[in-house]
Amino acid sequence: MDPDLLEEAIKDRIAKIGKKPKAIIPVALYGMPYQIDRILEIANRYGIPVIEDAAEGLGSRYNGQMLGTFGEYGVLSFNGNKMITTSGGGALICPDADKAREILWYATQARESYPYYQHEAIGYNYRMSNICAGIGRGQMTVINDHIAHHKHVQELYCELLKDVKGITMHRNPWSESDSNFWLCTATLDPMIRIKGQENAYKQVISGAVGGAAGVTHEVNTATTDCQPNANVEALRVALDVANIEARPLWKPMHKQPVYKNAPAYVNGVSEDLFAIGICLPAGPYVSDDDVHYITDTIKTNIL
Ligand SMILES: *Cc1c(COP(=O)(O)O)cnc(C)c1O
Repeated sequence: MDPDLLEEAIKDRIAKIGKKPKAIIPVALYGMPYQIDRILEIANRYGIPVIEDAAEGLGSRYNGQMLGTFGEYGVLSFNGNKMITTSGGGALICPDADKAREILWYATQARESYPYYQHEAIGYNYRMSNICAGIGRGQMTVINDHIAHHKHVQELYCELLKDVKGITMHRNPWSESDSNFWLCTATLDPMIRIKGQENAYKQVISGAVGGAAGVTHEVNTATTDCQPNANVEALRVALDVANIEARPLWKPMHKQPVYKNAPAYVNGVSEDLFAIGICLPAGPYVSDDDVHYITDTIKTNIL
């Protein structure tokens, strides 16, 4: 979240509809900390609560402080692919015990204490099952190892790719930021040519790239009007052929067709990054040998 665009968005909403946003939700993309000091300053100035989406940022710090503990609330995810997992579900970091009780009440169907169901507010069925919570307690014993491992894998990518022209690993951009490197991301110079690039996007893909099992809609076009460059797609395919799962960066929200009518405050950075970015494998089972194999495969596919 660009703090300058955030303030522009708040001012524009007030000017256009006379209302400010109900909440500000910065997202720790790939685990990378947001500029929370500037975001909080703006949020406080306009009196808007901050809810941190630290789903990917468990263990990341800004100025030494854990993400998820800056805003009024902090959201963590324990989905299967996150830093630790309970198979599904997550946690909400609350400012105090009263707020936590209130949230739990909403998450537990918002029941009044009558012998029958009496609803004076809309409730939800959102709390974690005891079985999932038990898995989470087991995961707490490996959380520090996982965070350290992700940082180690990132360091190794940086070391092994440092002399490869046209590939740039994304690092901590400021002295304040300390990413958990949940995902290790790189950008590929548009001038770099990759083997098989002329065939990129020639074939319609069936099924999802990573996750989602077989639960996708079939599509009948190989391309959309906003997608990674051909060399990035060619590199993804070359890695896939070598049994390595890489993925594009997240597609910017304002380029998702479902949000095409929603207002967006942008400056082109997210679209530029989507065109040139790639996520490399970074999980707890990615060994040093794997990182060597991945970086060797990248090097042999650069023309
Ligand atoms: C995974 C993720 C979520 C959602 O978490 P679930 O537990 O899968 O619902 C939300 N925000 C970000 C940034 C995520 O990466």
